[in-house]
Amino acid sequence: MTRRFLAIGECMVELAPEQGASYKLGFAGDTFNTAWYARQLTEPEALKVGYFSAVGSDDLSRQMADFMCAAGIEPHLAKVQESGPGLYMIQLKDGERSFQYWRSTSAARHLADDLDRFPSIVYGDVVYFSGITAAILPELRRVELLGRLAELSNAGAQVVFDPNLRPHLWPDAETMTRWTMTAAAIADIVLPSHEDEAAHFGDVSSDATAQRYIENGATLVVVKNGPDPVVVQASDGDRFQYQPAVLDKVVDTTAAGDAFNAAFLADYLQHSRLRDAVRAGCVLARHVVSHKGALIPVSQLGLINDRARFSA
Ligand code: ADP
Repeated sequence: MTRRFLAIGECMVELAPEQGASYKLGFAGDTFNTAWYARQLTEPEALKVGYFSAVGSDDLSRQMADFMCAAGIEPHLAKVQESGPGLYMIQLKDGERSFQYWRSTSAARHLADDLDRFPSIVYGDVVYFSGITAAILPELRRVELLGRLAELSNAGAQVVFDPNLRPHLWPDAETMTRWTMTAAAIADIVLPSHEDEAAHFGDVSSDATAQRYIENGATLVVVKNGPDPVVVQASDGDRFQYQPAVLDKVVDTTAAGDAFNAAFLADYLQHSRLRDAVRAGCVLARHVVSHKGALIPVSQLGLINDRARFSA
């Protein structure tokens, strides 16, 4: 049976520094990164990966859609006239990367204007969104999108949410934390990162983060925490920790959490074995933090559709 994995959010144009004064153009963004890795890790016959967003009618938007198609991701992109994609630029100063964003008027802010263009989602399909997806939407559209996701969850789809807390996308901290909990409440699976959660919710441990989302209604919470143990808690009482094989020399942590989510979900959806799925997440995330950039080909890792090879 082919399942659908539909990620919702904003893919941006990326400008990454190359040698000298040149910049390389690419495409990335949190939920898109997860879709891209999910596509790399699974066979199209097992999982149909799609991306639901909005773009402009400009050439860069066309290139973005072409990039998705070439990657094997089905684009579900509304066209917004006189608008364009968001953009971010990576700057390197003394080896440290910093990011500058131009996304406040991006077409993706209109992704939920017409929810009738949602592809058919049935029992067992997965719908994936993040706190960034929620943050970029006008409030009315956010309410409508969450309503639709709640309906899909009730109909048997698995709704998965990564809180990805980004204070600069919200008017204030209270608004961010309130909407994060509202969005998480309709999700079946929540995939937070403890460091962010501790900073904004005051959680004293990954266990505390997991417990808060379980009490908020999630059936499964997987808490990432950099090189520290991943904490898994299910509403049926199952809980355990998994220590990732730690990499001493981290090159670039961009998209580590996004990649973890993709490998965890790809494995969990196919085999329903939590510990193996967490290990798969850690193997891919470790690969990603040992390379520069968001989208790192996984072919040399031999992860594709072979759980035995996920072993750390
Ligand atoms: P996010 O990118 O969302 O902030 P984290 O920083 O918590 O996520 O990291 C996500 C995952 O990346 C971790 O659960 C772990 O598997 C992996 N990871 C991060 N840092 C390291 C490291 N130094 N060594 C090995 N794995 C790491």
